[in-house]
Amino acid sequence: MARGPGDVPSSALASRNGVASGMRPRVRLRRQPSAKVAMVGAGQLARMTHQAAVDLGIDLVVLAESSDDSAVVAGVPFRLGSATSLADIRATAAGADVVTFEHPFVPSRHLREMEDLGYRLRPGPAALSLARDKLKARKVLSASGFPVPAFAPVSSPSDVLRFAQEHGWPIVVKNPRSAHDGRGVHVIDSEDRLAHLFVQPPWTGRVWLAEQFVEIAAELAILIARTAQGYVALYPAVQTIQRAGIRSHLLMPALLPGSIIKQAGQMAKSIADGTDATGILAVEMFLDTRGELLVNELTLGPHDAGHATIEACETSEFHQHLRAVLDWPLGATTLRSAAATANLIGGPDATGIAARLPLALGIPGVYVHLYSGAALHGRKLGHVTALRGSTEEALETAQAMAALLTKP
Ligand code: ADP
Repeated sequence: MARGPGDVPSSALASRNGVASGMRPRVRLRRQPSAKVAMVGAGQLARMTHQAAVDLGIDLVVLAESSDDSAVVAGVPFRLGSATSLADIRATAAGADVVTFEHPFVPSRHLREMEDLGYRLRPGPAALSLARDKLKARKVLSASGFPVPAFAPVSSPSDVLRFAQEHGWPIVVKNPRSAHDGRGVHVIDSEDRLAHLFVQPPWTGRVWLAEQFVEIAAELAILIARTAQGYVALYPAVQTIQRAGIRSHLLMPALLPGSIIKQAGQMAKSIADGTDATGILAVEMFLDTRGELLVNELTLGPHDAGHATIEACETSEFHQHLRAVLDWPLGATTLRSAAATANLIGGPDATGIAARLPLALGIPGVYVHLYSGAALHGRKLGHVTALRGSTEEALETAQAMAALLTKP
């Protein structure tokens, strides 16, 4: 007689499972297969990307420089290492479907070698190099006919003087490979200041980017997601307000004429296609006082200008970035509500933010995001987004909430 499972005596079943009779048999549950994404960088953008990864059942692992990094503190699986070490990047990327980046500061040669070894880098080395090197981005954009501020490479006071004589004082001199937040941006207003330049690090040993000083009427960022197959999704334009070179507030939608926003969106789309960007691309632009748009900077990967998308848009930039790098269908970018975001910058008593948090949480339409960074004076510790009926009202609320949370 043929034996079916029902014919097996229970004691035999127990021993077949390797457990003594009387104990419950051990059942091996297999996890659903999931997509695996490795991200270089473990700051707050990686932390927020992880929240989206959890929603989508994606296994995210990050390459962290320190166990104090914002994503690591949040419990994101990580590997400690350096973004400039090929071995560390490879170890993080082992088994991943794609490798993506929170910041672009990975040497090009490592990226090329990773591609040669068969890793899928999203974005790829060419696009990423434009985010890493502002001078290169300027050259590529202007050669392709996109409007950019007048610029020149400079490596000596006499180069800067020549540029200033041609374009007029003041001029802006930028470290083309600096991190964000305006740290490498210097406004030089006269010849007297030149003697101090190119004397000591970080001025020595590199070419800098000199730019005409733009009379800025408004600054905006266009976020666009692009898949490797070339599908794109454009977000509503974000207007950015800077304080001391740091983006302090975001307005979504931007309070700018529709014709400007349309033109900015078309430019961003052409740049995304022309540079073969994958994932989120942020195109930062100036609107000058003559009403002309100039492209300032390209950034690849989730971007702080897109923070309001978490609550204000149908698909957050973090979900969208993951969808794009995995070549999954992109989500709608429709605005659900006018929004504004204010950064939470640590004051003399930065630890007070957590204590005051409940005050802000009691207010409808207000969303606080804390990054768990070291509570340092002057450091970006989080952001607050307010959703309201108009951008102006949202800005007022976001500013009031930031003041409440960070007041000394
Ligand atoms: P970072 O990448 O460090 O943020 P940016 O190039 O975006 O540096 O510059 C930071 C801020 O400095 C800009 O948002 C803008 O307010 C100001 N800035 C930069 N370049 C110019 C320029 N050419 N003319 C006038 N202001 C500028």
